[in-house]
Amino acid sequence: MRGAGLKWREVEKHLNKKRCKRCGLKYSKDAADCSHCGNLNDTQLVAFKQKLLEQDKSHSKLGRKLLFVALFVCLFLVAFLLALN
Ligand SMILES: [Zn+2]
Repeated sequence: MRGAGLKWREVEKHLNKKRCKRCGLKYSKDAADCSHCGNLNDTQLVAFKQKLLEQDKSHSKLGRKLLFVALFVCLFLVAFLLALN
């Protein structure tokens, strides 16, 4: 039961967040400023967003790589089954 309670707290935490109009990240509804970009000036914000974009790119690259590996494994399995017959 403890685990379920913890999960619910996570959901609640998620619900208590709003998306920042400046950087697009989520932060607590209770906070006056965004915890990510609230203390950044415009120049810093541009650099921050650039960094986020690069992180995003590397994530999708990793996803594509994983997809490629999964496809390769499937092909290998099919080839293996065909070889057995
Ligand atoms: Zn922000």
